[in-house]
Amino acid sequence: MMRMTRRAFLCASPSAALFGAPVLAQGRARIVVIGGGFAGTICARELQRAIPRATVTLIEANPIFTACPFSNSVIAGLRPIGGQRFGYDALRAEGIVVLHDQAKAIDPQRRLVSLSGDSVLGYDRLVAAPGIDIRWDALPGYDESAAELMPHAWKAGEQTILLRRQLEAMADGGTVVISAPANPFRCPPGPYERASLIAYYLKTTKPRSKLIVLDAKDNFSKQRLFQAAWQQLYPGLIEWVSLSNGGKVTSVDPRSRTLATDFASHKANVANVIPPQRAGHIAEVAGISDATGWCPIDSITFQSRLQPDIHVIGDAAIAGAMPKSAFAANAQAKVCAAAVAALLHDEPPSLPKLINTCYSLVAPDYGISIAGVYQPVDGQLVDVQGAGGVSPADAAPDFRALEASYAAAWFRTITAQTFS
Ligand SMILES: Cc1cc2nc3c(=O)[nH]c(=O)nc-3n(C[C@H](O)[C@H](O)[C@H](O)COP(=O)(O)OP(=O)(O)OC[C@H]3O[C@@H](n4cnc5c(N)ncnc54)[C@H](O)[C@@H]3O)c2cc1C
Repeated sequence: MMRMTRRAFLCASPSAALFGAPVLAQGRARIVVIGGGFAGTICARELQRAIPRATVTLIEANPIFTACPFSNSVIAGLRPIGGQRFGYDALRAEGIVVLHDQAKAIDPQRRLVSLSGDSVLGYDRLVAAPGIDIRWDALPGYDESAAELMPHAWKAGEQTILLRRQLEAMADGGTVVISAPANPFRCPPGPYERASLIAYYLKTTKPRSKLIVLDAKDNFSKQRLFQAAWQQLYPGLIEWVSLSNGGKVTSVDPRSRTLATDFASHKANVANVIPPQRAGHIAEVAGISDATGWCPIDSITFQSRLQPDIHVIGDAAIAGAMPKSAFAANAQAKVCAAAVAALLHDEPPSLPKLINTCYSLVAPDYGISIAGVYQPVDGQLVDVQGAGGVSPADAAPDFRALEASYAAAWFRTITAQTFS
């Protein structure tokens, strides 16, 4: 990372006005991180390492984290849900205070976080990493009780298990329907990896079944690679209906498991509705999300553009060209921790470069990937031209198998770095 001069940072960053007196000079800094997922957990660890004298507190609602990456393999019966679960003991061993509680309010002016247990924590800097919430008001017919019949499985855990059970219970010859939302949403290639792995399950156990993807978009991540692989591995099994061809789901009826579009109505035996999303609820309560439902940030420090002394990382943030992925969340967490440490030491933050790679499995031994490098330009995180790309279109089976093994190695590495 390249260091900026303090003067250059003050000119370049709209949040520079919030660059206050160094807290470390006044004593022991108090840093609170909300959300112990891929972004918040690694950020808390990096902060504790960067500022050993600071009190770093991580507030996470659940004692066990259930990871979304590789949860599509659980849905397809290729992996147990237990492999997705991680605890927080390693953070406690490093001196981080881990509180399993819900942050229910933030007072940015007085720099206070209220927890559901009625305790209140003060902070000098706050990092918000609350991930996503479902927009329950966005799709007529789809509310929390509908999700018990038509699971979204877009937050891993009970929903993942429910979708798996429904697929197991479906008779051969059934129809699975997945509805994919418009951008932006968590994990752009995720619905198509899910379609692929469910198709693998159907082909190998219920070969008379079919799968329809109803899409609110005309294009999707790694589209050419996915569609070529579907033709090769699952001919006639997957039907993708684009926005232009009437793919956008406009309402659902959970009792009859029917999804309606402007053109047709689709009755499913198993319906996986992936609805529109927004930043985790606390973002709205704290006033750090805007009318889009996501959180605008400074592209160098991840500092909120709406509230002082708060940084936002991971899926909740509007991070320009960066996708909402665990890989991106990890990269943002490290940049944010370095920026918070610099600001607390009254030093200018470094100009970051961030990397993302998203692997997807089309079958257990068939992986594809997309990679990108990002940097701040004019207040936005943009692609570094020529630095990224996708897997080759004409790769041999050995290459696809290698990428599948890279995907597994990536998951082992990132979860070990985050939670072990
Ligand atoms: C099916 C699927 C497959 C995916 N595959 C991949 C993949 O292969 N590669 C990849 O890079 N990404 C993948 N992703 C995306 C990845 O899961 C997310 O981008 C990543 O989890 C974002 O990290 P985060 O920390 O922002 O949010 P999360 O990991 O969701 O963490 C947010 C945490 O905040 C906590 N929280 C929220 N609000 C509060 C509050 N008020 N108080 C206390 N705690 C709170 C939540 O309990 C949660 O633990 C996938 C996603 C899905 C759905």
